Amino acid sequence: MSAQLAKNYQLSVISDAAPASNNTSEVARQDSPEVCAFCYGTGMEVVPGKGARHCRCRTEERQAKLFAAAHLPRRYEQCSFANYHPVPGNGTQLQAFNYAFKLVDEYPAIDRGLLFMGPVGTGKTHLSTAILRGLIEKGIPCLFYEFGALLKEIQNSYNPISQTSELKVLAPVYETEVLVLDELGAVKPTDWVRDTMMQIINTRYNVSLRKRHWKIALARDSEAASMRCVKL
Ligand SMILES: [Zn+2]
Repeated sequence: MSAQLAKNYQLSVISDAAPASNNTSEVARQDSPEVCAFCYGTGMEVVPGKGARHCRCRTEERQAKLFAAAHLPRRYEQCSFANYHPVPGNGTQLQAFNYAFKLVDEYPAIDRGLLFMGPVGTGKTHLSTAILRGLIEKGIPCLFYEFGALLKEIQNSYNPISQTSELKVLAPVYETEVLVLDELGAVKPTDWVRDTMMQIINTRYNVSLRKRHWKIALARDSEAASMRCVKL
């Protein structure tokens, strides 16, 4: 994505800002089945009289389900913070790593999403996959989509022979707690592409009024010399 295009997309609106209040009331519990009712995504649950322990949502079975549902790209399946190596002396890359690491560490007590920008091969997809891996280990439902692939699925859903519908394709995109859209800039920005992008952002924003929601967006900016990361 060019810097200009990034501006056109008004990426500042992607933050999917959740309501400031902590939705820990009983009502929020019932309205948010994806958020763990025992630990609210913190990974620790309190056992009366015994203290805190790792939450039951962190069991391997649940994590396996979350991993399967997240659709992490196969090439990046093993990507984590542990095997991410910023180029020595590259300050913006290190900062991107720090933002990503902090997001996972502090989640859900964060209020802004992230946008990674930079040329191919600078670790944007690695870092975003590492974020999702870290969040899934905390029991958070996540979804990874390459933007172009998502658009293709939506287009295919218009085919009367296909067994799917646009809404069926988009429902997980709207509903998942943390969404990564990769390769934003790799798609030619036609009116339809822009409209679809805005529809996703607006719907997630509206959903976020009743649910906790985050989006980490990725863009490709081949004009930049290095990768950098900004908070949305
Ligand atoms: Zn839990």
